[in-house]
Amino acid sequence: MRVLITEIIWNEGIEELINQGFEVDYDETLWKKREKLLEMVKDYDAIIVRNQTRVDYELLDAGIRLKVVGRLGVGLDNIDTTAAKKRNIQVVYARHANATSVAEYVMTAILSANRPLYFADKDIKAGNWDRKKFTGREIANKTIGLIGLGEISHRVAKRALAFGMTVIGYDPYITENDFIVTETGVQVKESLEEVLSESDYISIHVPLTPATHYLISESELKSMKTSAYIINTSRGGIINETALASALINHTIAGAFLDVLEVEPISSSNKLLFCETAMITPHIAGLTQESQIRTSVLVAKEVGKIVKGEHSLCTI
Ligand code: NAD
Repeated sequence: MRVLITEIIWNEGIEELINQGFEVDYDETLWKKREKLLEMVKDYDAIIVRNQTRVDYELLDAGIRLKVVGRLGVGLDNIDTTAAKKRNIQVVYARHANATSVAEYVMTAILSANRPLYFADKDIKAGNWDRKKFTGREIANKTIGLIGLGEISHRVAKRALAFGMTVIGYDPYITENDFIVTETGVQVKESLEEVLSESDYISIHVPLTPATHYLISESELKSMKTSAYIINTSRGGIINETALASALINHTIAGAFLDVLEVEPISSSNKLLFCETAMITPHIAGLTQESQIRTSVLVAKEVGKIVKGEHSLCTI
């Protein structure tokens, strides 16, 4: 059994693969060497990728021995799942493994918008003592609107409710019998517009698909309160960045926390770089020590199951 790993994996995942009897070839920069990857992939039973490797029909065709693609994460937008299905190649992903980390990132964003401790500390070390400037705001009794009500939103909702927030959401695929309504207590709204106009914080948790591309554009941003923040930990391409930059520059919304962008790494000409109220991070919402160990071990285990002909709960 041979497995090719094309992007960063934590050692615990490699150890798990070796313990299962895999011969492991690991090059965390292989995703950048397309020709080499296309040449190598024919000799492997499994390939493990993160979000940079383009797993398209060409790569899947070249992988004549491939039984499984393991995705060290959740979003599958870099994998042609239809092409994989046609070739009888299974796709396994790190189901639920980084949802808690993303939820904690969202809470960090909301809290830091209201209590900017980092900036207060910098101000003090610059020789000031300005208590008025750093008067914060409470998040209790404010409303958070969740767009997409899946695994991550469920965890954000639990935490937001513990802080005394009102939690509303929009997801056309959720019914009143779903767990997030009956157990978590999210108030589901009929339309995206209702969530956008009623929320103080909007957090996006949908996959990137043709239907969600530019889901948030000029008119949706116009529906938001001028005091509201938008948080995107989902995928670049869901928010129209040109429309967002205009909204921030014209102060029609209060701010944005962006962990994901249409082009990553960010282009030096991206207008958002010059928006004071845009806080940008390098796609790290799901990236914590705990989640990466969990992800690496889980994907290693599930890839092993498929290669051995066993059943996995992490397939699509
Ligand atoms: P999930 O599949 O559990 O939930 C997604 C939800 O979106 C589903 O309930 C689905 O019904 C809903 N949805 C689909 N289309 C919709 C639409 N048009 N409008 C409203 N709702 C819609 O996924 P999840 O685990 O919550 O993750 C969400 C996304 O977060 C992933 O697809 C991935 O792209 C992203 N993600 C990012 C990071 C990071 O590090 N920044 C980490 C993990 C996941």
